[in-house]
Amino acid sequence: MEKILLLAATDTDGKLGKPALEAAGAARELAGALGGAKLVAGLFGAKVPSADALAGTGFEKALAVENSSLSQARYATDAAACEALVKASGATLVVAPAVSRLQRVAAGVAQRLGGRVDTHLTALSAEGGAPLVTRWYYRQRMSGQVKRAQRPWFLTVEPGTHAATAGSGPLAVEKIQVSLPESKTKVTGEKSPSSGTQTIRPDAEILFVAGAGWCKKQGDGQLHVAEAEKLILGFLDKTQSSLGGSKSVVDQTGEGAVLSFMSHLNQVGQTGSTPRHAKGLSTCCHGEEPHTVGWRFVGERRAVNLNANCGWAQGKADVLYVADAFKVMEKVNELLGG
Ligand SMILES: Cc1cc2nc3c(=O)[nH]c(=O)nc-3n(C[C@H](O)[C@H](O)[C@H](O)COP(=O)(O)OP(=O)(O)OC[C@H]3O[C@@H](n4cnc5c(N)ncnc54)[C@H](O)[C@@H]3O)c2cc1C
Repeated sequence: MEKILLLAATDTDGKLGKPALEAAGAARELAGALGGAKLVAGLFGAKVPSADALAGTGFEKALAVENSSLSQARYATDAAACEALVKASGATLVVAPAVSRLQRVAAGVAQRLGGRVDTHLTALSAEGGAPLVTRWYYRQRMSGQVKRAQRPWFLTVEPGTHAATAGSGPLAVEKIQVSLPESKTKVTGEKSPSSGTQTIRPDAEILFVAGAGWCKKQGDGQLHVAEAEKLILGFLDKTQSSLGGSKSVVDQTGEGAVLSFMSHLNQVGQTGSTPRHAKGLSTCCHGEEPHTVGWRFVGERRAVNLNANCGWAQGKADVLYVADAFKVMEKVNELLGG
């Protein structure tokens, strides 16, 4: 009989974030598909005051490593904590959110324990009583399913693919003592990307994509980049949407008229990211095939483009507004208030 461990780090407030609760949902689904495998949580962080968010959702108990050194994500200390949790649980399957902190240590801990790891999974199921996991390959173009005999098997689950568990009530937490390695690294502060504006928000409802059209000469023969920046930042501020960019617009960075807050981290598409948002609004962007790859997991797609024959019009957007994005976004911001 398989035993499943949900492995997750707590946030600075000691709570579990959305990706961890989604991974808990995936672990529950897997336990159900395996005919009721045992479910245990393994939590680590500077504070693990409770595991109540998982109570009443099928988890028997929670194991916890609580240590001030775990306030920062650091390979040596995180890996030691994870190793201890997996050992103490005796788990054969380890489910973790595919967030940078867990992704960084999953392979190393699997190696220490003689296990295997598969990452960025989008579905956990079972076939013939054995776990069967799904992930996408080749820039999200093909999906494949994997079975493995080796245990422990580490499975990191892509955020946004599963419903988060919503437990309440008490769940027993068993603290585990681990001597964490000494670290010479001290975190003295944080620096955000060039503009100082946090624009990439994986949890946002809406993905707003800006294309190169924002930095092109408009109908009056002039550039309106300062106005473009104001409109885009105004919309992001009011809606807390996540900002994406086409390859053309991010490649302009550092050359002439550019959006100062746009970086290569914002790029969406075949050679960029493939984010998951409920809705997407693309502006001043042609919407060619490589970009559409990046929109694969965006639910409702809308675009604003002057060209009625742009890529979005070729069946790639649910709604295409053939209009001037400067005027549309000005009106949208006005309607949003302020
Ligand atoms: C191997 C490879 C990988 C690639 N990977 C990616 C990738 O990951 N992501 C990606 O995005 N691209 C990628 N590309 C590039 C892609 O093919 C396109 O060249 C790029 O997406 C075009 O960007 P764009 O639509 O912003 O710019 P443009 O093609 O220049 O389009 C600008 C658009 O703005 C519109 N516009 C201008 N002014 C306004 C206005 N006032 N209101 C409304 N609309 C306006 C124009 O009508 C035009 O459609 C890749 C290409 C290759 C070959």
